[in-house]
Amino acid sequence: IYILGIESSCDDTSAAVLCNDSILSNVVASQKIHEEYGGVVPELASRAHQSNIVPVVDQALEKAGISKKQLQAIAFTRGPGLMGSLLVGTSFAKSLAYGLDIPLIDVNHMQGHILAHFIEEDGYTKPPFPFLAMTISGGHTQIVKVNNYFDMEVIGETIDDAVGEAYDKSGKILGLGYPAGPQIDQLAQKGNPKAYKFTKPKVEGLNFSFSGLKTAILYFVQRETKANPDFVKDNLADICASIQYTIIGILMDKLKLAVKETGITHIAIGGGVSANSGIRIALKNAEQKFGWITYIPKFEYTTDNAAMIAIVGYLKYLEKDFSDFDVMATARLKI
Ligand code: ATP
Ligand code: FE
Repeated sequence: IYILGIESSCDDTSAAVLCNDSILSNVVASQKIHEEYGGVVPELASRAHQSNIVPVVDQALEKAGISKKQLQAIAFTRGPGLMGSLLVGTSFAKSLAYGLDIPLIDVNHMQGHILAHFIEEDGYTKPPFPFLAMTISGGHTQIVKVNNYFDMEVIGETIDDAVGEAYDKSGKILGLGYPAGPQIDQLAQKGNPKAYKFTKPKVEGLNFSFSGLKTAILYFVQRETKANPDFVKDNLADICASIQYTIIGILMDKLKLAVKETGITHIAIGGGVSANSGIRIALKNAEQKFGWITYIPKFEYTTDNAAMIAIVGYLKYLEKDFSDFDVMATARLKI
């Protein structure tokens, strides 16, 4: 069966076509407009989605080599995300499903980041249930116990900033452009991770905290810049490597604790920060060191994309879990 997925929760407009659990196309239009503001401007995002959505959907269908009439369901992101952005995808999905007279399927974006692991790929082994998913993105940092496709329990999450936010805000302090995560990752690979030491937050149990780290980095940079105005420029790679080392350390500590508490050693990661080279290496090492079996998504399924929305649509389609046409975009949708 052919399913069209639509994603518009933040600043990427994306459409994907699936045939069963295989991807035929996955088109992403990233909005450049936010770069000059150093962060996503909700009103501009909503407007950009409006101008992107028709061409992006057309392109996804064209790449997949199918026509609208062959579609059997439309899956869309209901939430969580920015209300103005979600509304564009939601209304578009509803009108298309209504016009074609096919089922409409609402999808939780965070379930999408996790269930992207069930997209069929050559040589990729899907995680067996139960597994632990660590979702690390621009708006979330969660450890989720995944008992089944739609039976998920959040067993730990951030009490303040998300890890992607920690990357982006640290980057802003260093004068890097938005989003800074990929740039810090690049620079970190050329630096010494032990050049500077930042203390890890003390948070009980499986919860995370990243706002203290951001403040520590701000004070550190302010102090060092007083002594040497060119401090950041002269030591950028070392600073980035040290930040990355600290963040990966925080993530791995919590994962180790989650494994200890649940006894589950199948570990999947998802969300934009799962593109990070440091976390990918740390997980591969954990396979050797602790005997974990890790699942790392293909690069194109890490940051926001509609393929992950379409796969959830497919899994719901199999259960005939369709939505009513009065379903509403929900900015703070929970897993
Ligand atoms: P959410 O999924 O929580 O609603 P979002 O959809 O905005 O948030 P994603 O698109 O999943 O977030 O991820 C974007 C985040 O990933 C940004 O904060 C970006 O800096 C970060 N990111 C992307 N690539 C990397 C990388 N290589 N290293 C570190 N961070 C990265
Ligand atoms: Fe996301």
